[in-house]
Amino acid sequence: MSRHGGRPRVNLVVASPTGLCFGVRRAIGQLEDSLTRYGTVYSLGSPIHNPQEVDRLVALGLKLVESASRVPKGEVAFVRAHGVARSEFDELRRRAGVVVDGTCPFVSTAQERAESLSKDGYQVVVLGDSNHPEVKGILGYIEGDSMVVSSEDDIDSSARHERLGILSQTTQRDTTLASVVSKLVLLASEIKVYNTICRATIERQESIRRLAKAVDGIVVIGGKNSANTKKLVEIAESLGVSTLWIEHSDELDWGWTKGKASIGVAAGGSTPDWLIKDLTGKIQRL
Ligand code: SF4
Repeated sequence: MSRHGGRPRVNLVVASPTGLCFGVRRAIGQLEDSLTRYGTVYSLGSPIHNPQEVDRLVALGLKLVESASRVPKGEVAFVRAHGVARSEFDELRRRAGVVVDGTCPFVSTAQERAESLSKDGYQVVVLGDSNHPEVKGILGYIEGDSMVVSSEDDIDSSARHERLGILSQTTQRDTTLASVVSKLVLLASEIKVYNTICRATIERQESIRRLAKAVDGIVVIGGKNSANTKKLVEIAESLGVSTLWIEHSDELDWGWTKGKASIGVAAGGSTPDWLIKDLTGKIQRL
C-alpha cells in the first residue's frame, strides 16, 4: 500500500478484457439506433442482463414484453443478443412491422449447430442453464431428443447412448464443458462436440484468473441476473480471492476494501462502460 498525502493509497487493477462483449455492444447499438428512428421498440425480454442499463433504455422508449404474441401488430420488435426459438422468430415476423435482430452471431452459431446435430440424428446435449433464455432459444432449434446439463453431476453414469451431439451455452465455463465431454465420451458409441463457448467469455474468464493472482480482492460488477457475471464471481471465489459482487458503485462496501492494498475490478459481458467508470472512479478516490 503506497502513501499519498499521508493516506494509504489503494492500487487499482482493472481486468483486461472486461465489460461489454462484442455481441451485447452490437445489440445495444442496434437498439439505440432503432429507438432514435422509431421512438418505441418492443423487446422480447430484457435486452441486457443489467437493470441499470435497461432503465436507461426504457427512458428512451424501450418496452419489454414476454413473448412475440405481446408485440402490438405492425410495431417494431427487437430480438436480444440471447436470441429466441425459431417459432418465436416466425411469430414476430408475422406480427411486427419491423424486426430488428440483435441475436449475437455466436449465439446464432450455437442455434445452427444444435439444428444440424438434431437433423443428423444426434441426441443433443446442451451444457447450460435450462432456465436461461439463450438455452431456451437453442432448444427451439432442436427437432429430436435433447437434454440440458449444468455440469457433469447431471449426467447419469449408468445410461448408455448411441450418438450424442454436445454443445454449450455461450457463457459456460470452458473447464465445465471439458468435464462434461470427458464423462459423456465413456457413455456413448459416438460423440460430436462443438465448443460454442464464445471467445469473449473465455477471454473474460482468463482475465479474471490472471487478476485473482495479482490483487488482494476483486469487485465484480454486473447484473445479479447475468449468467456470465455469475461465472466470473465463481471463478474468482474458486481461486480463493476475496470477492465482492455488486450491480453498481453505490453498493461498494467500504468495510470490505479496508486493509486491501490492491483491488481488482472485473465486469460481466453485459455491464455497460458507464457503470465500470463510476466504480473505478470511486475506488480511485479512496
Ligand atoms: S457473451 Fe459472447 S455469445 Fe454472448 S452476447 Fe457476448 S459475444 Fe455474444
